[in-house]
Amino acid sequence: MILPRYMEIDLAADKVQSYSISQNDYQMFLGGKSLAAKILYDELPANINPLAAENLLVINTGPLTGTGAPSSSRFNISSKSPLTGAIASSNCGGTFGTRLRRAGFDGLVIRGQAPHPVYIEILDGGILIKDARDLWGLDTEEFQNHFNKKYGQLVIGPAGENMVLYACAISGERAAGRCGIGAVMGSKNLKGLVAGGDMPIPIADKSRWREYTARWMKALKQHPGTGQDLPRLGTAGFVNKSNRSKVLPVHNFQAVNAEESYKISGETLASDYLERNSGCLSCPIRCERRVKIDGKDVKGPEYETIGLFGSNIGNYDLKPIINWNHQADRLGLDTISLAGSIAFAMELQQKGKKDFGLKFDNIEGISTAIDDIAYRRGVCAELADGTKRLAEKYGEKDSAIQVKGLELASYDPRHTVGLGLGYATANRGACHLGGGFLSFLEVLSPVTISGLTTSGKAALTVFFQNSMEAVSLGGSCLFTAFTVIPPFLFGRKKDNLLSKIVGRLILLSSPMIKFLAMHPLLLRFKLFALFPHVEALEIVTGRKITTGDFIRYGERAFTIERMFNNREGISATDDILPGRIMEELTVGQKIKMQDKLTAMLEEYYFIRRYDQQGRPSKKLLNKLNL
Ligand code: SF4
Repeated sequence: MILPRYMEIDLAADKVQSYSISQNDYQMFLGGKSLAAKILYDELPANINPLAAENLLVINTGPLTGTGAPSSSRFNISSKSPLTGAIASSNCGGTFGTRLRRAGFDGLVIRGQAPHPVYIEILDGGILIKDARDLWGLDTEEFQNHFNKKYGQLVIGPAGENMVLYACAISGERAAGRCGIGAVMGSKNLKGLVAGGDMPIPIADKSRWREYTARWMKALKQHPGTGQDLPRLGTAGFVNKSNRSKVLPVHNFQAVNAEESYKISGETLASDYLERNSGCLSCPIRCERRVKIDGKDVKGPEYETIGLFGSNIGNYDLKPIINWNHQADRLGLDTISLAGSIAFAMELQQKGKKDFGLKFDNIEGISTAIDDIAYRRGVCAELADGTKRLAEKYGEKDSAIQVKGLELASYDPRHTVGLGLGYATANRGACHLGGGFLSFLEVLSPVTISGLTTSGKAALTVFFQNSMEAVSLGGSCLFTAFTVIPPFLFGRKKDNLLSKIVGRLILLSSPMIKFLAMHPLLLRFKLFALFPHVEALEIVTGRKITTGDFIRYGERAFTIERMFNNREGISATDDILPGRIMEELTVGQKIKMQDKLTAMLEEYYFIRRYDQQGRPSKKLLNKLNL
C-alpha cells in the first residue's frame, strides 16, 4: 500500500520535514477533511486560541485529486476556526491541490508562526519557506500575478493579513471560503503557497482508469442536471427556485421571497452579463460564470453571494453584486459571512441599535464597508468579527443569523426544514453543504419532497451528510453527486405527477434509509448511478471499496469532527438555529421551526448514536474504531 506523502512545515523554526501518516490512519480516514480532522484531533490541545501559533493548518488532498477524475481537482484546508471555535474545513476547486500533488505531496501540516511574512514554495519534491515581506499587502490577484501562471497558488489578501475572522484563502479565483482559514494563515504570517511540478499522481490500476473516467465524464455531460442546468445557469440558477419555494432570504431573513428576485436570477445573469461558463480543472460540468467588470473577464457570483448580497439586503441589481463579489475575492473575504454580517448591521440600523452607515434597500456605502472590514478600519471594523460577536455587543441575538458562530448560507430553512436540521448539526456551523444540503431534494431538484414536513428528514440528513463527506474527502466536487437524481425527472413541470410519486417513494422508504444510515456496510455493492466515486476510489487506491465502505468513510469523517467539537465544549445545546428562524412563522407555516427541530433532532441523535448531550456514544466509537 502506498501511503500518502505529507510534509510538516514549522514556520517558527523554519524547518520542513516529513510527516508520517500511519497505515491505520490512512485506511480509516483516506484523505481530505477526514484525515485532516484526525490530525487536528490528535495534535491540538483543547481550547487553544485559533489565532495563536499553536494552531495547525492542514492543507491536503483526496486520493482522486488531480487524477483526471471528473470534477476532482478539489483540495481541503482544515484548522480550528477563529470565527466559531469549532473545527474548520474548507474545500476549494482551485488549481493548488492538483499542483501540490504534481509537486510530489498529498498534504501539508503547517505549524508555528513565522517571524515575518513568508510564503511556501513547493516545487518538484522540494519545499522552501521564503521571505514574503515584499508581497505582504498585495491582494489575492496581485500576489498570484507575481508568479508563473503554471503554478497552483493559495493566497490570502488584506483580510487574512488583518485576521478578519471570516477571511478566506483564494486559489486562482476559487475560494476556500468558510470559517476564517485566511485569518489563521494571516496569524501565522503565511501570505501564500505556490506549488508545481511534473511528478506522477499514483493510480493503482492504470489499465482501468482511462476507460472509467471517460465513462464518468460522459455520464456527467449527459445528465440534465450536470450537463445542462449547471453549465447553463450555474448555481445562480437556484435563485428562482428558492424564491418560488419561499427559501430565498430577504432583509436578513425577515421574509422568504421577493417579487423582484427575478432581476438577480441566474436567467438574468445569463442574459445580461454572462460571457461564457468555465470550470475547475478536469470538470465537465463547468458551473462557473465568467462576466466582465470594466472590460475585464472575472468570475461571476455564486447563488450564495447573489442571495445574500441581493434580496437579503434588499438589492435587486446584479451589477453591484458582481463587483462586490470580485472585490471580496481580491481582499480575501468569505462572501457568505461578509454579506450576512452586513445584513445584520443593516438590521441593527433598522432597529435603532447601531448605525454603521448601512441600510436595507440602499447599496450606498457597501463597497467602502467591504474595504473597511478587510482592513479593520472605521466604524465597520467591528463587522470583521461576524454576526455572533456583533450581537453580543449590540443585542438582537435572535436576529443574528448564525449557528455556532457561522453565518447561514442563502437558504431560509423554514421551508426546507431538512436543511434546517443540517444547519443545526453541521460540524463547522450553519453550512448547507456540511448539513447534507437537503434543500437540493426539498427545493432545487425536480423531485417533489415537501420542505415543510419533518417526516424522514433525520434519516435523509444523516445519509446525505455522510455521503457528501465521503465525496468530499475523496477529492471530488459535491456537484458530481447531482446525478443521483434520475434524468427522466428533469424537464418536466414543477410538481408533476412523476416527481410527486418519486418524492413520496423517497419519504416512504425513509425507514429503510434510516436502517441503512445506521448499517451502511450492508450496502455491499458498487452502483455507478448512485456513487461513481466508489469504483474510482477503488481503482486509484487499489483497495476494495463498497458503497457501504464509502458511506462509512463519510460517517467516520463526520464523527471525528464532532469529537473535536465536543472536546471544545460544543454540544447538543449548540445544535440550534437562530432565534428568528426558531420562533417566527412565515407564509404557509403552522408549526414553529423550534418544534420541528426538536422532533428531528431526537431522531437524528438516535440514528447517529449520539447521547443526550450530542456526544458520540461508546457504541458508535467502537463501531467506527475511533
Ligand atoms: S461543478 Fe463547478 S465547482 Fe464543481 S468542480 Fe466543476 S466548476 Fe468547480
